[in-house]
Amino acid sequence: MARERLYLFDTTLRDGAQTNGVDFTLNDKLAIAKMLDDLGVDYVEGGYPGANPTDTQLFAEARELDATFTAFGMTRRPGRSTSNDPGLAALLEAKADAICFVAKSWDYHVRVALETTEEENLASIRDSVRAAKAKGREVLLDCEHFFDGYKANPRYALACAEAAYDEGARWVVLCDTNGGALPHEVEAIVGEVVKVIPGDHVGIHAHNDTEQAVANSLAAVRAGARQIQGTLNGLGERCGNANLVSIIPTLKLKPEFAEKFEIGISDDKLKGLAHASHTLDEMLNRAPNRHAPYVGESAFVTKAGIHASAIMKDPATYEHVPPSTVGNRRKLLVSDQAGRSNVLAELDRIGIRVDKDDPRIALLLDEVKEREAIGYAYEAADASFDLLARRILGQVPNYFSVEQFDVNVEQRNNAVGQRVTVSLAVVKVRVDGETMISAAEGNGPVHALDLALRKDLGKYQGYINGLELTDYRVRILNGGTEAVTRVLIESQDETGERWTTVGVSPNIIDASFQALMDSIVYKLVRSNAPA
Ligand SMILES: [Zn+2]
Repeated sequence: MARERLYLFDTTLRDGAQTNGVDFTLNDKLAIAKMLDDLGVDYVEGGYPGANPTDTQLFAEARELDATFTAFGMTRRPGRSTSNDPGLAALLEAKADAICFVAKSWDYHVRVALETTEEENLASIRDSVRAAKAKGREVLLDCEHFFDGYKANPRYALACAEAAYDEGARWVVLCDTNGGALPHEVEAIVGEVVKVIPGDHVGIHAHNDTEQAVANSLAAVRAGARQIQGTLNGLGERCGNANLVSIIPTLKLKPEFAEKFEIGISDDKLKGLAHASHTLDEMLNRAPNRHAPYVGESAFVTKAGIHASAIMKDPATYEHVPPSTVGNRRKLLVSDQAGRSNVLAELDRIGIRVDKDDPRIALLLDEVKEREAIGYAYEAADASFDLLARRILGQVPNYFSVEQFDVNVEQRNNAVGQRVTVSLAVVKVRVDGETMISAAEGNGPVHALDLALRKDLGKYQGYINGLELTDYRVRILNGGTEAVTRVLIESQDETGERWTTVGVSPNIIDASFQALMDSIVYKLVRSNAPA
């Protein structure tokens, strides 16, 4: 039997960006969009052009994605025409494949929040959908507060959805904006909606305020909806959005869904899910949730004892799905086999050729385990992983060595009597048998150290002239007996290539130094600089 297509719509970059403490840069957004695209998500909602400079910039250029790149925004304001609404104009100009409008569908909100009439709200939906269609965009309508609205006034909530559908919107998305709906309610209400609008034009957008966002999304699918909106790791304001990282494997691995539906994510891509989830956490400088379903460190840990012997006989005795399907690992056997295949897969991904029986793989694996145990995070810092692997394989020349460095921080009055803090770094580098001393001032110790390090590298200077430090993230980890600092540094070169390196130490300057060194050496390796 042919399986029905189910579409995944990711809103990490828009609704997920509403999370407290989350502030994506343009580069973050581009990296996450690429990651989602690689995974095979159908729609990537990038943001709200016109609402902030980052999103405006994001939509200023066409982005090469296989996914349908989607801009979000409001329907035309009540009482205005579509041609006389700057917000709508910005949205229509955005370089996006699709536009997702949000509109009220709860009569109470139309009266109280929008202060307009029910009919004017419907006209705004129709006009906005028509304007976006005329611009050649695929159109979606997020029906805000749909479930609460439906409970209060089903006739009006449906009329809003129908207005968009009749005008040619590809999708009408039913939003549980306050996140208070329960699965049986969602299933019943979506069941009513699909009597009027075909299910393959209906989507679900659930928030997690009763911890039911995933369940509500699945309930909507059971009732006939064919698009699910959610975010990576359930990112989103308050208690978050429906977590695609839990939804995706459920759709792929649970027969009730897998036998009926097909999604854009292949079995192979599914194996990259844990990596994607952890990468997002590292970008946000958050510790991944160890207990996250499917992808958490502890998701497939079994305590020794009777479980252990049973699981050794047959993993299915204590595992609901095989951990490798989502790129996770069983944590009981500390199986070198599992770790080994992860390392091999990673080497393959970054393009390092090595025989799979090479004994140095075990060495690398031990090194990675040891370092991750003390705080290194190689899932985010792939340039540092690349270097670690190449060093063990003997592929990193000893370009230069730093014999000594000194950094100091001074607070003083400047010429106009203001208190200023300046840092001075002095670095002694040995290149090609020659010792060079460079000094630089910076607005902080790491900045000064970075400038001094890169000031004079002798014959290598030409390779690193275009190198630029683009992001610097610090996290204090409380592992073991003492707190250590992890520093992640993102660098970029003149070609636009970016990479991330990591350093860990009880001392923040030392951790930063390690990450800076890795960044420079990585650039030299990438440039095939001679030894
Ligand atoms: Zn939302």
